[in-house]
Amino acid sequence: MTARLLRLWNRWALWIVLVSLVLSLLVTLVWLAGRYEASQVQDKLDRDNADAVGDIRSALTRNEQSLQALQAGNPTPAAWESAANALLRERREWVRLEWRDAALQTQAFVNSPFRPPAFDRLGRDTTQSDLALACAAARRQSGAYYTRSYFVPQNDGLGLEVMDMCLPLVTSNTLKGYFIASYSLQEVLTSLVGRQLTRSQEVSFTEVDGTRLAMNGLARRTTRVFTSQQLLDLPGFTVVLRMDSWRSAPDIFPNVLTALVTAMSIALVSVLALLGKDIRRRLKAERDLADALAFRKAMEDSLVTGLRARDLLGRITYVNPAFCDMVGFGPEELLGHSVPAPYWPPELADEYQKRQEVRLAGQHAPPREGYESVFMRKDGSRFPVLIIEAPLINAQGTQTGWMSAFLDVSEQRRIEEMSRASQERLQATARLATVGEMASLLSHELNQPLAAISSYATGSINMLRAQPQHPSTRHLGAETSDGLEMAMRRIAEQAERAGKVIKSVHDFVRRRDQAREPIAPQALLDAIMPLVSLQARKLRVEIQTRIEPRLPDVMCDRTMVEQVLLNLARNAMQAMASEEQPPSVERMVVLQARRSPTSERTAHSAGWVEFSVVDWGPGITDEVSRQLFTPFFTTKLEGMGLGLSLCRTVVEQHGGFLGFEPNAPRGTIFRFTLPVWQSPPRAPPNLSANSPANSPHSLSHHAANP
Ligand code: ADP
Repeated sequence: MTARLLRLWNRWALWIVLVSLVLSLLVTLVWLAGRYEASQVQDKLDRDNADAVGDIRSALTRNEQSLQALQAGNPTPAAWESAANALLRERREWVRLEWRDAALQTQAFVNSPFRPPAFDRLGRDTTQSDLALACAAARRQSGAYYTRSYFVPQNDGLGLEVMDMCLPLVTSNTLKGYFIASYSLQEVLTSLVGRQLTRSQEVSFTEVDGTRLAMNGLARRTTRVFTSQQLLDLPGFTVVLRMDSWRSAPDIFPNVLTALVTAMSIALVSVLALLGKDIRRRLKAERDLADALAFRKAMEDSLVTGLRARDLLGRITYVNPAFCDMVGFGPEELLGHSVPAPYWPPELADEYQKRQEVRLAGQHAPPREGYESVFMRKDGSRFPVLIIEAPLINAQGTQTGWMSAFLDVSEQRRIEEMSRASQERLQATARLATVGEMASLLSHELNQPLAAISSYATGSINMLRAQPQHPSTRHLGAETSDGLEMAMRRIAEQAERAGKVIKSVHDFVRRRDQAREPIAPQALLDAIMPLVSLQARKLRVEIQTRIEPRLPDVMCDRTMVEQVLLNLARNAMQAMASEEQPPSVERMVVLQARRSPTSERTAHSAGWVEFSVVDWGPGITDEVSRQLFTPFFTTKLEGMGLGLSLCRTVVEQHGGFLGFEPNAPRGTIFRFTLPVWQSPPRAPPNLSANSPANSPHSLSHHAANP
């Protein structure tokens, strides 16, 4: 469980770290961008505020100078009033101008034409003390001095925040009086602060403790308010100019920078995701490739065919394990090796070298079916190989060398040799068997005349002895008579000797009788197959074998029984090869082996196996069938007429029976039986030739044996 988690972590850790890094970068950037924007707004507000303070200050200074100008030329109070009236029309921030003498007694005054007189309700007296203090200070400083602001209730129920400015009038060092200007703080904000500032923000005068004295602009409350405060420091009075910007806090994408950074981050993340996908695809391709490689490797390693690749210079670039096994050299001894290759037999190296030069020159394409050659193992032994070569073409379509496949054909050669030897053996025994049969027949045929000669000779001797004076021999002398007897005895002796010679030849031929061994019916059929199929191909006949499963071994002289099968199969094939064979009839010979259905196990026998050879030839006429087993009967030009009689002799020597019957719809079936092998400890049945007890069938045929 933990191992799995660990693996998962290993796989995803990098990604998690990467994504969290990108996310934190993104958040930091957005936050920084927001903060930057906020500080920009704040800076602008501070700048605006400072500008506004400067504006107000310079406007107030300008106003002082305008007031100062009013005393030029020692005006009469009436003249002053009209000049002051003109000035009031231009300055909305003033609510009232007064001219007082040095004892602060009012000489003249003018109210602002823009509003009802401000001091109507309460009168001017309530603020006298403040004003007196301010004027005293103004006098001391010989400059304008301001009072603290104060609230002046109005008739309409509202009120005004007002501050007074006292300007001393000094001419050649004597105080002539004072000009007093009353400012409405509200109007100061309205007229002296730039329009563009009050449009987007709220501007107000507050006291240092935050009490709001006057305000201008729209109060629009939102979540985030930027505030800037600047001191407006006037002689005698200090007030705070406060600006509130109700610009809302920056959005998530308030400006191009944030948007750009975000977009780039998103692009980065998407590129990373794509990259991840690509890596996954590559990993999969890599895995697939590794699988394919492993598959190819397993395939190459499992091959019994040797593989070797050479480049165009003849250097070995690749060998598979099978090739190394074949030649006995390790890959490291072969790779990179050029001519002569270590597995070339030294005596053939020149020839191989020439062959390779021809191959590398590319003039002759190698034969597709390959060619045979001889290689040398590391231990020096030679072996035949079949080489199949093909050009090695790379992905660009150019040839980079040659790929060769090698088959070690020594085993094949050995089998071919063996089969040739067994064919020769079969053919030799066939000849021997025929000669044996002939000798046996001859001995049978000659025995009677020899016996006759012998008995005639004996009779003649007896006659000579019994009747020495026989009239027919009377004219012969006694010597002659003795000579005759002697000759007769010699004749008898020689006849007897001839008989013995014949018998010994016969015995020699029959000596194989005892070479019995247990053998599987399948093995018998297999042994004759190479020869049979050779002839079948020649005669264009199909051969089929049908062997009952689980057949017991038979007890026989293997070579002789093979001859029987061979003879019968050959007869069957030759019968179908004759000219009268209609083309529509199948040309087939079936070789069958099964348990004989008519035989039973007895105390003496373990049963019989029946072999049959079935053909679809012309069949056997009655006339032929009467003489079939007669020695030297044949209907073929080159036939000997000994085959069938030999077969019968052999089968009957084994205690079996050989017969034939017509096949339906045409053709012939030859059958013969052989005894089943009886395993020890039971003594094998007496299988001497012609023993009626061992013959399973009571059919009597002409016995070919003497
Ligand atoms: P050979 O084959 O030398 O002629 P055989 O004793 O084997 O001697 O055969 C004797 C004759 O029996 C053959 O010439 C042939 O006429 C006939 N014969 C043998 N087998 C068959 C068969 N399967 N079908 C037709 N005729 C056969």
